[in-house]
Amino acid sequence: MKNVTVIGSGTMGNGIAHTFAQSGFKVALVDISDDALQKALHTIAGNLDRQIKKGTLDEEIKNTTLGNIVTFTDLQSGAKNADLVVEAATENRDIKLKLFGQLSEICRNNTILASNTSSISITQIASVTKEPSRVIGMHFMNPVPVMKLVEVIRGYATSDEVTAAIMDLSRKLGKDPVEVNDYPGFVANRILMPMINEAIYTLYEGVAGVQEIDTVMKLGMAHPMGPLQLADFVGLDVCLAILRVLHDGFGNPKFAPCPLLINMAMAGHLGIKSGSGFYKYTPGSKDVVVADKFA
Ligand code: NAD
Repeated sequence: MKNVTVIGSGTMGNGIAHTFAQSGFKVALVDISDDALQKALHTIAGNLDRQIKKGTLDEEIKNTTLGNIVTFTDLQSGAKNADLVVEAATENRDIKLKLFGQLSEICRNNTILASNTSSISITQIASVTKEPSRVIGMHFMNPVPVMKLVEVIRGYATSDEVTAAIMDLSRKLGKDPVEVNDYPGFVANRILMPMINEAIYTLYEGVAGVQEIDTVMKLGMAHPMGPLQLADFVGLDVCLAILRVLHDGFGNPKFAPCPLLINMAMAGHLGIKSGSGFYKYTPGSKDVVVADKFA
């Protein structure tokens, strides 16, 4: 595998493009928004500069990494030469089904089509393609260049050969892949999202404030980040979308999203990416400025 197409250049797409490019792959980064593409290149350059400052990278690797990334707003041009596609577009079933139907027409029969979806069925995504055996989940964690885990999700029809190739490729990227089966939320979000949702309910019911809830979980459970800060980090729209998939997929009320999460997502308070969620952020930074009005 040499040519990798990454679709979606938001929070995850820029990190996935960065990781592949730094490992020597040629990356075509595709987004419907030119603004998002420019922002992604800016973020990648900034993250590489941070590595240089820390002394873990030199200027030459930065230039090679950036030189390995070409951006596209046209899917056909960006995906036609791909050996592997990693889709990281918005967490929306209809968007993903449409994209995979198009990719199945654009790409060669032996291209592996992977989705970075947090929760949407790989089996359903594969069902709209001509080669469901070549569709797989490749679920990176945020921030991608830093986090070691890749959750590799086998859809009902995913072949052993494709699974082995993606496990192997993940190791080549310096990651630790874990193979799981395709049920709503897989493993990571089936466990994480109910915890985040319960933290939001705890706030909603007035049991404690934002900082108190996060402090209890950080100091009491040795979590590096509290659940509300983590929700801001993931994006409140993404958390809501995942909870809806879990609720719908299992039909169990324990996954029903908290009304406060729904309100915040509708109001556009999406966390770091919008500048405010449970906390407020300086634009373009992950550093908390102050806890938002809930504190
Ligand atoms: P995001 O909202 O930050 O970015 C999504 C990007 O996709 C946007 O730039 C948007 O313009 C683009 N897009 C939408 N439709 C498109 C299309 N048809 N073609 C090309 N680009 C399109 O979202 P994100 O947080 O990066 O999430 C992307 C995927 O990664 C989702 O499936 C999400 O569940 C998954 N994921 C997110 C996280 C996280 O922490 N945010 C972690 C793991 C996985």
